[in-house]
Amino acid sequence: METVSCNIPVDMEFPVPSRVSRKINPENTVVNVSGVKVGGPEVIIIAGPCAVESEEQVFETGRAVKISGAKILRGGAFKPRSSPYSFQGLGEEGLKLLSEIRKETGLPVVTEVMDTRQMEMISGYADMIQIGSRNMHNYPLLKEAGMCGKPVLLKRGMMATIEEFLLAAEYILHHGNNQVVLCERGIRTFETSTRNTLDLSAVPMLKHLSHLPVIVDPSHGTGVRWMVPAMAKAAIAAGADGLIMEVHYNPEKALCDGQQSLSLDEFAGLMTDLDKIALAIGR
Ligand code: PEP
Ligand code: MN
Repeated sequence: METVSCNIPVDMEFPVPSRVSRKINPENTVVNVSGVKVGGPEVIIIAGPCAVESEEQVFETGRAVKISGAKILRGGAFKPRSSPYSFQGLGEEGLKLLSEIRKETGLPVVTEVMDTRQMEMISGYADMIQIGSRNMHNYPLLKEAGMCGKPVLLKRGMMATIEEFLLAAEYILHHGNNQVVLCERGIRTFETSTRNTLDLSAVPMLKHLSHLPVIVDPSHGTGVRWMVPAMAKAAIAAGADGLIMEVHYNPEKALCDGQQSLSLDEFAGLMTDLDKIALAIGR
């Protein structure tokens, strides 16, 4: 076996848990989100506000991202905020608004679950359940996600290795649900100029090790609005099956993550560029 100077085998691989492993299941898994197929030939764009704030905000934003070509609408009703004094989300009221905009636009919705006690209620509204970065290590929640009957968007823990990320996905599969999309959203490093360090090398690595679809979140991955288009394009070029991005009809007024949210016009422009990248790589 070829080795590098420090004697680490170049093609060394750690053991990958069985249910998520591509060695065990070589075919790509396609995750069906109410008819939208993630992990197939088409690159799928998920877009919408960080948090559902009001009827006007979610309708204006949802209609616009649909026209620009988004296939799934995102929006948090229960928000994991660092400060207990920050906007925590509209709760069930936010879920009702998401169902209304889904009815109008036909876009399936993905929203975050933070607590096992809310899984049943949120699954009743959402087309896809999001497990956020802070909860990737929440094993009771991962087990519930395995039993919830909805596809799951699993975000990488901000301090999780690839192995830990895949083991978290394994929990969901082990508990009966193989409809899992992996999402690279940046990890914490010594770098402070960006909110996180977006680990795009995770995309080919995860695709190599696992059959699950992989998407990228360049919004949380950078935390900087003007960097989002560059990293979105790079993620598609690196082989991601899709993107999840924060878009707001008035980012300056956003109650959550406005600094990394694209305006409606910026999103529309980026979608045109992404089409060209997808075409260039045969998708
Ligand atoms: C989000 O997508 O709304 C979110 C909170 O992201 P993360 O869990 O990646 O921080
Ligand atoms: Mn956010």
